[in-house]
Amino acid sequence: MATHTIRVHGDPVLRQATQLVTDIDGVLERLVQDMIETMYAAPGVGLAANQVGVQKRLFVWDIGDGPFVAINPVVTGHDGEWSYDEGCLSVPGLFWPIVRPKEVHLDAVDLHGDELSIDADEMLARVFLHETDHLDGKLLLERLDPQQLKEAKRTLRDRDLHLDSR
Ligand code: ZN
Repeated sequence: MATHTIRVHGDPVLRQATQLVTDIDGVLERLVQDMIETMYAAPGVGLAANQVGVQKRLFVWDIGDGPFVAINPVVTGHDGEWSYDEGCLSVPGLFWPIVRPKEVHLDAVDLHGDELSIDADEMLARVFLHETDHLDGKLLLERLDPQQLKEAKRTLRDRDLHLDSR
């Protein structure tokens, strides 16, 4: 297994919708293993394939009882809402209170090609929504309200300037 570099905001690969997975084979299995290792090393609770530069529709997650993989995931059936301080490995070190649905349903397949059908609430629902956003080419920054976004942009700009000057 090997870890991958996690792409950060500004990388165009994060802004492109991913392609459906058509072949579940040894190559995909190795990618999943590497993504799991990369997620644990970060550390994070979820990682989408395009965050490691691969334009395929799958993500891995572990909120304490995993790891698991969702291939060709689709979220349906939103219900309720709740706010939580949410961060992203591709926008490292920053967290914002983000309102999202409290309960969702996820349909996907696993590495054996078996169907997954999962009712999720709170943290798990949030991970599913966050990772499917990634796979649709959306970053957490697009979930911020105008004031949060303004501050986020300033923080990121200041930090990037700081990094450039080293
Ligand atoms: Zn993320």
